[in-house]
Amino acid sequence: MQVYYHSTRGGDEHITASEAILKGIAPDGGLYVPDHIPVLEKSMKELADMDYREIAYEVMRLFLTDYTAQELRDCISRAYDEKFDTPQIAPIVKKHDAFYMELFHGATIAFKDMALSILPHLMTAAAVKQNCSNEIVILTATSGDTGKAALAGFADVPGTRILVFYPKGGVSPIQELQMVTQKGDNTCVVGIRGNFDDAQTGVKQLFADPELRAEAEEAGFQFSSANSINIGRLIPQVVYYVYACAKLTGSGELAEGELLNVAVPTGNFGNILAGYYAKLMGAPIGKLICASNDNKVLVDFFRTGVYDRNREFILTTSPSMDILVSSNLERLIYRIAGEDAAAAAELMKQLSEKGSYRITEEMQERLSGFYGNYALQPETADKIRREFEEDHYVLDPHTAVAAAVCEKYRAETGDDGKILVVSTASPYKFVRSVLPALEGAGGDDDFALADRLRELSGIPEPPAIGQIRNAAVRHNRVVERTEMKDAVRAFLGL
Ligand SMILES: *Cc1c(COP(=O)(O)O)cnc(C)c1O
Repeated sequence: MQVYYHSTRGGDEHITASEAILKGIAPDGGLYVPDHIPVLEKSMKELADMDYREIAYEVMRLFLTDYTAQELRDCISRAYDEKFDTPQIAPIVKKHDAFYMELFHGATIAFKDMALSILPHLMTAAAVKQNCSNEIVILTATSGDTGKAALAGFADVPGTRILVFYPKGGVSPIQELQMVTQKGDNTCVVGIRGNFDDAQTGVKQLFADPELRAEAEEAGFQFSSANSINIGRLIPQVVYYVYACAKLTGSGELAEGELLNVAVPTGNFGNILAGYYAKLMGAPIGKLICASNDNKVLVDFFRTGVYDRNREFILTTSPSMDILVSSNLERLIYRIAGEDAAAAAELMKQLSEKGSYRITEEMQERLSGFYGNYALQPETADKIRREFEEDHYVLDPHTAVAAAVCEKYRAETGDDGKILVVSTASPYKFVRSVLPALEGAGGDDDFALADRLRELSGIPEPPAIGQIRNAAVRHNRVVERTEMKDAVRAFLGL
């Protein structure tokens, strides 16, 4: 059956997957959602014998129904290739208290690679399908990992350009170096004076700016988004949840009928939403454990039904989760509102006008499949240390937040079912907080810390670190948040 996409805020658009991917965000500011969630056509046992690419095809073809089999297979094989340092793509390792699904084996050593390695291919294929002759310009805000993964994905892809905004001082030094050394004539990276929410709001405003859009169109450009508001980023993330359930079924770890709880370190709510979609498709997933750091706006939401961003923004050791406005939550809100776009639009209006909203009791009841909790920075550091002591396994701070929250989940609910922790970054990406957690001392030379991590853990250094050791800085522009529009104009020569 065909799947069409429409905005969470209503309107009468009813578009194909390739159109939705090309547009990124709906003209009314809403996010595209599928008109129904397709059901998996193969059992976990059948999927268990397939490799990552084959499972990706089985999942994605159900959502991206206007892509031909050949187009989709081409996109998949270009994305999930030797850029990943293991043929398994998303290896699952078993430790004493959980399974860890390592999603950091791609080019930029964070899970964003899972979706951003394929998005450029889905997008250029979409442009061909839609007879779009404009050059596609990706505008993206990043809390650190999306930016680099998007740059790596789009660099030198013909017919595209990419401009990334990041909060200056709000990302880890390695994340910043990864971005500002990005090669490729079609790439541009700009720091803004503000936090991630400022960057994200600024980019949303750029998309909604009719004047800028007209100027760009005049010059032969069309904007799109590589943030997880783009459905082309969300759907590839559904794959690894299905993959995990299939592989654990295949290895006998998950019995027939047994449900797997999954814990996801959450920021913009994209990753965990993909897990929710996987569950709706029929993957044997139990609780979706939403793990936050000190910025626990989502935890409060799950516990009280009130989303309130009016609070201090805290910079933590897990910067990719330092977010107070979780964009993708809008897709969940829409769903639990019974697909009522007017209700979703009203709540989003309250969010932008007063920074908060309360959902109805009925909506809250529909959230029973989620569990929310948080881990503060000392708890996260403590979990990194204990995991290393007990299993000789090194967690990055984001993954450690989720692992620490799992412990709280077990203690609070008494549920001792199996848990899969979604492991979102390599510890090498966050050595400045990982090393102090492991041995009490750190430093501010990231490469010396990376050397130390290798000595201590024996984990080989990923190529992504070596690549930036001596790379030249190519992007050093920093602007006020009010100047983002001018930055776009400058990049495009408007
Ligand atoms: C982006 C990111 C997250 C948060 O994922 P969302 O989809 O934004 O919820 C968690 N950990 C790492 C390492 C990330 O890069």
